[in-house]
Amino acid sequence: MKSTIVSLTLSLLFSVFNTNLALASIEIKYKKPYDAAEKRAMKEIKASTSNETLQDLSKKLFPFKKALTIQYGGKEGPLYDSEIHTVFIPYTFYTDAIGYFKKNDYKKKYGTEPKKAAMDTLLHTLLHEVGHAYVYEKNIPILGKEEDAVDNFATILLIEYVDNGGEVAISAADMFDFESKDRPDYYEFDEYIDDHSFDLQRYFSTLCLVYGSDPETYKGLLDEIEKDYVGERKEFCEFQYGHISDNWHRYLKPQKSK
Ligand SMILES: [Zn+2]
Repeated sequence: MKSTIVSLTLSLLFSVFNTNLALASIEIKYKKPYDAAEKRAMKEIKASTSNETLQDLSKKLFPFKKALTIQYGGKEGPLYDSEIHTVFIPYTFYTDAIGYFKKNDYKKKYGTEPKKAAMDTLLHTLLHEVGHAYVYEKNIPILGKEEDAVDNFATILLIEYVDNGGEVAISAADMFDFESKDRPDYYEFDEYIDDHSFDLQRYFSTLCLVYGSDPETYKGLLDEIEKDYVGERKEFCEFQYGHISDNWHRYLKPQKSK
């Protein structure tokens, strides 16, 4: 009897311990900002709901066994360092994104404030980097480019679990488009072997999933595509969204989507 009580108590303690672990699965840290612009960025990131959204999603769908650290600030990143299980996001990633959205008249053209669009891009990037961490910790087999797989991870989670997540993903896609316009028209050969797809591919792949998730709401989203091919691409995107979503859900905690 005594041993039953002991083991019950132990298992109870263990489950409490486990719950706490799951709750603390993503830890957020801020490095000292270098200048006033970084200080402002830190303040805005702290005031946003991005970290909370990320932590909630992780708790619900992709908990980590070993607590993952998100380190804001510094010069490196965005990247995930598997040796120290840490994601690095410089403040300049967010401030540069605001610059891109301003330069491209985002508010005037699409009605979204540059700061909001930059925060959307940050959330997509956080999910992308955390996707790398999840792939690493879970040892998820990647048969292709891991960068594409975790872009999909970010977009699927936004679409399915975040309010207006489709719009958030579209802001992030537009950022890929701006970056693509900002570079030479050709690629060096080494870039063809890079694990990242080209920015314009990342732009269209993201839009493809958003369109495929809800063709009615997003019916104009793929209008840039040549008329001769757009019908065929739209069909593909509907298939692709279902396919990618099903496959990611094999590795996420079972949930009903929103
Ligand atoms: Zn990556």
